[in-house]
Amino acid sequence: MSPHRSENATTLLIDSAELRSGPIATAALLAPIDKPYSFRVPESLAETLRPGMRIKVPFGRGDRTAEAFCVSISHGSWHSTLKPVLSLIDERPLLGDNMLELGDWIARYYACPLGRTLDMMVPAAAKNQVGWKRVRYARAIAEPSAPAAKLTRKRAVALNALRAAESDLRVDTWLAQTGCGAAVGRALEQAGLVCIETRLESVDPEPNPTPRVEPDFELNADQKTAVGQLSAAVDAAEFSVQVLFGVTGSGKTECYVRAIRRALERGRQAIMLVPEIALTTQTVQRLQARFERLAVVHSGLTGVQRSRTWAAIAAGTIPVVIGTRSAVFAPCPDLGIIIVDEEQETGYKNQAAPRFHSRDVAIKRGHLESVPVLLGSATPSLETWHNLQHRPHYRLIRLPHRVRNLAMPTVQLVDMRNEHRERRGVHLLSRAMEQQLTRVLQKKEQAVLLLNRRGFASFLHCPRCKTAITCPHCSVHMVLHATTELAHCHFCRARLVIPNRCQMAGCGGTLARFGIGVQRVEAELREKFPKARLRRLDSDTMNKTSDYAEALSAFERKEYDILVGTQMIAKGLDFPFVSFVGVVSADTALSINDFRAEERTFQLVLQVAGRSGRGDTGGQVVVQTFEADADPIRHAVQGDYEGFVQLELAKRHHARLPPVTRLVRILLSDPRISTLSKSAEALSQALAEAFTKYRISATVFDAQPSPIPRIRDRYRYEVLITFPTAKGLLSAIELFKAGGLLKTKCRSIVVDVDPVSLQ
Ligand code: ADP
Ligand code: ZN
Repeated sequence: MSPHRSENATTLLIDSAELRSGPIATAALLAPIDKPYSFRVPESLAETLRPGMRIKVPFGRGDRTAEAFCVSISHGSWHSTLKPVLSLIDERPLLGDNMLELGDWIARYYACPLGRTLDMMVPAAAKNQVGWKRVRYARAIAEPSAPAAKLTRKRAVALNALRAAESDLRVDTWLAQTGCGAAVGRALEQAGLVCIETRLESVDPEPNPTPRVEPDFELNADQKTAVGQLSAAVDAAEFSVQVLFGVTGSGKTECYVRAIRRALERGRQAIMLVPEIALTTQTVQRLQARFERLAVVHSGLTGVQRSRTWAAIAAGTIPVVIGTRSAVFAPCPDLGIIIVDEEQETGYKNQAAPRFHSRDVAIKRGHLESVPVLLGSATPSLETWHNLQHRPHYRLIRLPHRVRNLAMPTVQLVDMRNEHRERRGVHLLSRAMEQQLTRVLQKKEQAVLLLNRRGFASFLHCPRCKTAITCPHCSVHMVLHATTELAHCHFCRARLVIPNRCQMAGCGGTLARFGIGVQRVEAELREKFPKARLRRLDSDTMNKTSDYAEALSAFERKEYDILVGTQMIAKGLDFPFVSFVGVVSADTALSINDFRAEERTFQLVLQVAGRSGRGDTGGQVVVQTFEADADPIRHAVQGDYEGFVQLELAKRHHARLPPVTRLVRILLSDPRISTLSKSAEALSQALAEAFTKYRISATVFDAQPSPIPRIRDRYRYEVLITFPTAKGLLSAIELFKAGGLLKTKCRSIVVDVDPVSLQ
C-alpha cells in the first residue's frame, strides 16, 4: 500500500522527500507474533491515541487489517514507507501503564506473545463494553456565540423545552416530547444553540450493595501483632511480601479483613485472590459480609456482570475485589494491597497460554505498583519458604495458635499393613476410624472423611495375564464407577462397558477390582453405619458450582452427620461441629510421578486434619496409610511444617530442583510416535547447544515420554530444563522468542515455565 493513499498530504510533516517525523506507535499484534511493530500516527489520531488502546493496523501480505495493542508512543523520524495506524478500536485505554508493564513481564517470563497476553488481561465483555449503551443527551447552550437567527416554530419549541429543563435531557425523550424529528435536533446543534453529547450508560440499574452482617472479632494477641505489621505495610505503600504463616483455624481471614479495611481507610483498593470460588464459598461469604462494596470475579459471571464489574472497579466505586486467577488483573486505580489466600494451591497456575502463576503475577504487580502483597497459608509452598530465606522484601508473620485457645487436633496414625494382618476381610475403614465414627454419631457431632480419588475402584485387573484395562485413547487405567457401572477415563472422559472376563486373546480370566475410590468408601460407610446421614461430595456428584455450596450449607445446618469426599472437602472449610476427620488413604498423592508428590501429600493431610476441632468439642484425626514411615506423613501427623520443609528443601537442593532452580517443561505432542520422539530428541540437543553458545547456564535433560505418555490419542514427550537463576531463564525465553529454536514438526509444543504439575 502506498503511504499516501489513506492520508491527506497536509497531515504529513515533510522534512525531506523520504524522511519525516512525528509520533510513532509501537504495537503488539493480537496475532501470535512476538515482535512489536511500529506504525506512524496520523495527525487525525494523534490527539486521542494512548498506550493501552487497541488499534487497527495494516499488516502482512496485502496489508490486511489487523488488531493490535498500542504499547507505547514515541516521537521520531520515520521513513516514508512506514505504515499508518488505520483507526482506534477503543475510546479509552484498556490497560494503564503499570498493567502494560505487567503484561510485558508476563509475556517475557512465561514465553507468550505480548499482544495475546495483553488481550487476555482484559475480559472480552469489558473490551466489547457489554452491558453499556450509548445515550445522547442535549443541553441548551447558555450564551450562544452566534447571533440569534429567527428560529422556525418547531425549533423554538424544542429549544425552549431544553432551556426550561432542570437537567440535560435524553435526546430521544426531548424530541419525542416536543413532537420534533431528528433534523430539528441537528439543526439546533449546528446553529450552536444546543450541545449534544454521548454518554455511556449501563443497560440496567446497578446491583444493590451487599449488606454488612458479620461483626468484627476481638483480635487475639497474635492477630493483633499480625494486623499491626500488615497495617504498617499498607501505610508504607511500598513493595513487600508479607507471608502470613498461620496454623489451620488461627484466624487468617480476620487478618485479611483488617488489612483490606486499612487500605480502604487510606482511600485505596484491595484485591484478594482465592484458588477456586466454588471451593472457597465460606471465605467469600465472610468477606461479602464485611464489605459493602465488593466484587466477586469468577468464571460464572455473565458478560454484562463482568463488564459492569470491571468498569466499577476501574472507576474506584467497587474498592474490594475477590476472585480467582484473573482477578489479579482487576483495574483498581490506586491499589493498596494484594492478598493471595492459600498461596500454595496449584489452581493459581493458568493452564493455557500465557501459563502464568497468579501468585507470582501478584508479586510482580505489587512490585510495579509499590504495594504490599500478603501470602497466607497454613502450609506455605516451598517456593515461598525459600524466598523468605533469600529475598530481602519477604517478611514472615506467624499465627502459631488457633483462635480462642482451641487445641490443635489430636492425630492418630494407623498403619494399614497391621490392620490387614490383624483383621479378617478387606476393610477400608480401620478399627480406630470406626470407633471415632461411632463416637461422633453417638454424640451427634459431625465427621469429614477424605479419599482423594474419584470413582469406585481405580483399576480393573486380570490376575491371570496381569493386564489392566486401560483407556483406548490414553495411557491410563480406566476407573470403575459404581453410579454408572461403567469404566471411566478421567482424562478424555471415555466410558466403557465393563467386560466380565479379560479381553486379552486366549486369556478370559476373571477381572478383579483393585484400588479404592471415594464411592467405595461411601458404600462401606453405608454398610457399617446404616443410620448415619451421609453426603458424598466430589466432581461426580456436582453438576454445577451451586451444588457444592448447597451441600456445604446443608452440612453446616447439621442435615448430615458425615461428609465424605475428595480433595474438594480438604481445604478452607470451617465447621464448628466437626470433631473428627478421617483420611482414608494418605498415600494417594504419594504415588504420582512428580517431584512435588511429597509436598502435596504433606499439604493435603495437614489441611484436611485442620478441618477438625474448630468448635468447642475438640478435634480428633485418624490418618490411614500403608507408608507410615514416609516423611510427609510422619511430619503431617505431628503438624510439623518446618521440620518437613527443612528436609524437603535439602532434597530439592541436592537434586537441583525448584525452588532451588527454575524449571521449564517443554511438552511436545503428536499422533505419530516416531515423529514425536525424533523431534523431542532433536530439540533437547538443539537447546543444549544453543545454551552453550549463548552462555546461558542451564541443565537440559534428555527428551523422554511424559509421565502420561498418551492422552486423547496423542503421544507426549517432554524436555525438562533447569536454570540456576531467573536471569538465565529470561535469556533462554528471549532466545525462544527470537524464533527458530522451537520450530517443530509436531502437532503441538507447549512451553511451561514454573510448571506446578508434571503429569
Ligand atoms: P484459618 O483461615 O486461619 O484456618 P479462619 O480465618 O477460618 O482460620 O478462622 C477460624 C474461625 O475463627 C472462624 O470461624 C473465624 O470466624 C473465627 N475467628 C477469627 N478470629 C477470631 C477471634 N479473634 N476470636 C474468635 N474467633 C475468631
Ligand atoms: Zn482416555
